Amino acid sequence: HVPTVVIIGRPNVGKSTLFNRLVGKRLALVDDTPGVTRDRREGDATLFDLKFRIVDTAGLEEEAPDSLSGRMRQQTEAALIDADVALMVIDARAGLTPQDRHFARWLRAQDMEVVLLANKAEGKAGDSGLFESFELGLGDPVPISAEHGEGLADLYDALRPLL
Ligand code: GDP
Ligand code: MG
Repeated sequence: HVPTVVIIGRPNVGKSTLFNRLVGKRLALVDDTPGVTRDRREGDATLFDLKFRIVDTAGLEEEAPDSLSGRMRQQTEAALIDADVALMVIDARAGLTPQDRHFARWLRAQDMEVVLLANKAEGKAGDSGLFESFELGLGDPVPISAEHGEGLADLYDALRPLL
């Protein structure tokens, strides 16, 4: 049985960058434009000796920024059905947004293993967002930089017991 891990979170936090890093290829389109991932994308991920199926999801930019939209929820729910673990990503540089908080509240109500990732944490610019993300009630955030490949050993430590 190959476990499935789904990457979720609002647009532009770096989900597709993380997906590409774990798959080792640029299968997902990375862009500054929120909501650029139109469909869910799947690939075979490797993290040290862990092998798992990974699913990238989109956030949809046309939705009200302060609510968890119907379409985003539908897409995310569909991706979560078959998943063993959700990686909930926030942008540590931007800090928490209302959308992150709505997403987290909804996710806490699901029966799902979650690892909270504070992405864009390279350097010091992510420190306040990292500490703020404890508020989401999804456990201790793991600081990573998907773009620079930092924090992957900590991601491994958080993920391995859940797979
Ligand atoms: P998605 O909408 O959540 O899939 O986000 P993307 O992966 O498309 O990334 C959105 C933007 O954030 C792009 O400009 C990425 O280059 C940038 N980004 C992703 N990961 C990092 C990171 O670790 N550090 C920094 N500084 N930028 C990042
Ligand atoms: Mg994307």
